[in-house]
Amino acid sequence: MHPERGLEAVVPARLGEERARREAEAFIEKRARWIDRAIAELAERRATLGTDGLLEINGMIPYGGRAHKIIAAAVGSIHVNNGAIEVPAAIARDPALLRRRLSDWLRRRARAVATQMIDVYAPQMRVAPKRLRLGDQTTLWGSCSPDGTISLSWRLILAPPSCFEAVVVHELAHLRSRGHGPRFRAVVERHLPDEAERMRELQRIAPALGAVK
Ligand SMILES: [Zn+2]
Repeated sequence: MHPERGLEAVVPARLGEERARREAEAFIEKRARWIDRAIAELAERRATLGTDGLLEINGMIPYGGRAHKIIAAAVGSIHVNNGAIEVPAAIARDPALLRRRLSDWLRRRARAVATQMIDVYAPQMRVAPKRLRLGDQTTLWGSCSPDGTISLSWRLILAPPSCFEAVVVHELAHLRSRGHGPRFRAVVERHLPDEAERMRELQRIAPALGAVK
């Protein structure tokens, strides 16, 4: 699956054109489910990366892994609606106020989502984090201190929820095991078998998340 060219099937030259076409078609049919998912993921990644990260009216930012346009609307408070982040007109008029309100709102959303995820995973992983801290990290998405404080980047709210969830599970697992050794891996994989894949996806979209200013 090429980021620009889309789906490509590579066949051995020795097959000849007729047989190559037949085998490629059979292969594509057999892998249809994987291909559909890969195409959807590609579209989603393009949507995330096609953002300018500007916290202003008509700016495009990723939110939950999808591009959202910031627009002024007749709403009482900041809302997400059908691919748009709607901002009350009174706030939209003042660029400095708009930036401040949007940035506070994103941090609140990040905290709310992180809290929900911790409430789900902490009991089943048999850990009890003491405190949740939100920071502005753009490469190290989360950390965990020995006193039981989980630190997460608010920017995770910009990422797909599957990536956000992977960081939460990763940090909670550190309450069971400090390093990244076999014991740690076993805890992570028991609760989120594709954690590593989700983390790689997060690294791929990191530039779009870091660009939000
Ligand atoms: Zn770690």
